[in-house]
Amino acid sequence: MALDRLGSSLYDALKKVFRAPVIDEETVKELARDIQRTLLQADMNVKLVLEISKRIEDRALKEKVPPGVSRREHVIKVVYEELTRFLGEKPVPLKVEPGKRKIIMLVGIQGSGKTTGAAKLARYFQKRGLKTALVCTDTYRPGAYAQLQQLANRIKIPIYGDPKAKKSAVIASDGLRKFDDYEVVIIDTAGRHKEEKSLIQEMKMLEKAIRPDEVILVIDGTIGQQAAIQAQAFHDATPIGSIFVAKLDGSARGGGALSAVAAIGAPIKFIGTGEKINDIEPFVPSRFVGRLLGMGDLESLIEKVREAEVHLPEKKMRAFLSGRFTLTDMYDQFESMKSLGPLRHILKLVPGLSYNIPDGMMEMAEDRLKKWKVMIESMTPEERDNPKIFTSSRVKRVARGSGTNEKEVKELLKQYSMMKKMMKTLRRKRLPFFGKKFPIPQG
Ligand code: GDP
Ligand code: MG
Repeated sequence: MALDRLGSSLYDALKKVFRAPVIDEETVKELARDIQRTLLQADMNVKLVLEISKRIEDRALKEKVPPGVSRREHVIKVVYEELTRFLGEKPVPLKVEPGKRKIIMLVGIQGSGKTTGAAKLARYFQKRGLKTALVCTDTYRPGAYAQLQQLANRIKIPIYGDPKAKKSAVIASDGLRKFDDYEVVIIDTAGRHKEEKSLIQEMKMLEKAIRPDEVILVIDGTIGQQAAIQAQAFHDATPIGSIFVAKLDGSARGGGALSAVAAIGAPIKFIGTGEKINDIEPFVPSRFVGRLLGMGDLESLIEKVREAEVHLPEKKMRAFLSGRFTLTDMYDQFESMKSLGPLRHILKLVPGLSYNIPDGMMEMAEDRLKKWKVMIESMTPEERDNPKIFTSSRVKRVARGSGTNEKEVKELLKQYSMMKKMMKTLRRKRLPFFGKKFPIPQG
């Protein structure tokens, strides 16, 4: 399952929470099961997955909900927090001080994405105004220098290398001398090693010669959980190491790779999300989860949940529940949702909907609301308060008066009776969350 698919599946799971009339044990258990299934499909470690789904369930059911927070908000917050924890608690940025030289050495097995990653990192620091250079020490692979040179030329970053030289350590120190007054020097290395052992040996040798400030292990994200083995070996060998997980775009196993690496506590500092030079980003677990879910950070997420639950005076609420719900009341409800912004915006705020509503449909919804207004205005006060009295001749009159047609008037009436029915069900169930807030109608 590619990461975007993973994201939309998690989103679907959350959507159920959002739409459930009541957040009870059954809803929470179903959510935990959905998340479990989704993560397993994304090749995540079984033990980790069971752990996370259990924690979500436990916290959602047992934790006391703080005052002013609905159970629904709380559950979504728990999911968000636990997914974030799953991918590493806090971002670990790669710090570069302007005016001081930072030597970064990239290691990793052949094909993992080192050379591409070196160019991406160079571009990343260049964009941040730092004087950046590249050094190629890969003396094994024919064309290794040419590959990096081509990338470097494209972004106008100076590069040092010597395709004819044999000793990588010598090239590295020559390069470092040449780029003495640079702020970031990124050293690409050979990755001919098939196994971690020799890779780490070479890494240690080069490390002695270069004395880099930071060694970054580049891991191919498509290898899934296997990434943990590489990361662990590396993590054990050097305390200053960090990880760059490449190829997270469209990979079936990216989630597995990320979570496996995060689980061993090796800091993931960057991720590669495509073949292009700009496809790099610092790894920020919470932001990553937010994006995965198609939402922003937790705060904006909770805000969205709140905005989507429209406030309603308690008196009115009680009246609704006792069956006094008129067409005007229904219209007011939609109108008050609209007052939060255009309907398009409001609907987008409802988790789950933004994934499903095509643009054209959103416009229709807004158009429809306008039509409803005109139709309701064309009704007599009796009709608004008691739509039961509608006969076909009344429907005809309203259609004519509002410049709509009978079908549209009937649709409005149908929507009304559906909502009225919903009110009745809500009254019967005596929903705990249904105190001061009015849920956004679905559909
Ligand atoms: P190296 O052998 O470790 O230096 O790996 P390279 O940088 O040469 O990359 C190996 C292959 O992976 C190349 O075809 C790259 O274009 C590709 N690659 C590297 N990073 C990414 C990435 O983030 N996404 C995708 N889709 N491909 C990548
Ligand atoms: Mg290479």
